[in-house]
Amino acid sequence: MILFKDATVVTMDEKRKEQYEKLDIVTKDDIIYYVGKNYNGKYDKVIDCTNKIIIPGLVNAHTHLGMSIFRNTSDNMSLLDWLENKTWVIESKMTDDDYYLASLLSCCEAILTGTTTVADHYVGNNTTINAIKESGIRCLFTNFLRDNDNLGNKRLNDFKSLYKEHKNDSDLISFALAPHSLYTCSKNYLKKISYFASKYNLPVHMHYCETASEVDIINKNYKNIIDALISTDLINNKLILAHGIYINKKELDKLKNYDISIVHNPISNLVLGSGICDIKKIIDKKINVCLGTDGAGSSFNLNMFYHMSIVDLLQKGIYKNANIMNSYDVLKMATINGAKALGLAQKIGSIEENKKADLVMLDLSDITIYPENNLISQIVHNVNRNMVVMTMINGKILNKNGKLTNNLNINKLKYEINKIIERVK
Ligand SMILES: [Zn+2]
Repeated sequence: MILFKDATVVTMDEKRKEQYEKLDIVTKDDIIYYVGKNYNGKYDKVIDCTNKIIIPGLVNAHTHLGMSIFRNTSDNMSLLDWLENKTWVIESKMTDDDYYLASLLSCCEAILTGTTTVADHYVGNNTTINAIKESGIRCLFTNFLRDNDNLGNKRLNDFKSLYKEHKNDSDLISFALAPHSLYTCSKNYLKKISYFASKYNLPVHMHYCETASEVDIINKNYKNIIDALISTDLINNKLILAHGIYINKKELDKLKNYDISIVHNPISNLVLGSGICDIKKIIDKKINVCLGTDGAGSSFNLNMFYHMSIVDLLQKGIYKNANIMNSYDVLKMATINGAKALGLAQKIGSIEENKKADLVMLDLSDITIYPENNLISQIVHNVNRNMVVMTMINGKILNKNGKLTNNLNINKLKYEINKIIERVK
């Protein structure tokens, strides 16, 4: 049992009145055993948290772990240009071992920057799942699906085998079906995916309305973007929809009746020139909005603090209203809303007794962000990687003072990644 003594805790617990308080937290094995003032029970180890902040582990609700290989490759390219002329070309040269190493690199980056849960949307196989297990991160895992070549059925069968083989492996890993998008999957293929998702009660994680040209294609194949979800039965599953930029108010009125979350990926949308999502409009319809980084190829990095820092600013800019959204709304998106989107809100997303011990400790004493006048704004806008002094996942401290504790050899990993780059570029 570990006692975190005298921390300033941002619980994100909706039942608490204060946004943050001086509290003690006790973890026991993989769970949060106690949250409250002046703990006087037993413990094995105490960590003095005077002047430290503890927040729930961050939830990155849309990323592509294996795409660390593509970091900064999308400059000056639109989404389709980048997919067709860069990523899919390089992917055709990548091996299972390459995906393992690239996924491991992303997991290390996520853990060091305070992310405890990722929703991956990429090549899922026995090597990538091993990377995730070795890193110790919590993951909504998948094998991404498309049938705009002749490998569609193979991808779906591979996912089914993967799911059946690994579904009971670890409390840290859950599964989702992941069609790439409505424009890279045929109607029949999407129906098969919906059927499997319903049968096993799995969420469906998909790109949706990311670009205007994508919506044009959907409108040619279906009556409209809502009909596309209805006629493929996707709508009856728990849907995690990445992007959602091009959904109008009438369409949101229809979507709000279903179990749908929109994952906002602001940096990626800007990098690829896709647009700016008006998330205020979506939140006003009471649709759950959470935050993702997308892959490092289109968003530079998987540091959720970097991605959080622009969310409210974009909305203030497009509405020309400084009061349209606040920092706490953004932190909700990166924590409890992400947990709700992934179907994990009973386990993670806030600091509450009996939830999983996924905790992040921050040291905000750095001179460059001094003085602290508004804690929540500091967390959302001013945290860099050096200030993330601890990441605990499932009760295990995996980042201690900015160093990984999981015995991964970072220099060897970088060497191996460089060898892949030389071969596939
Ligand atoms: Zn994506």
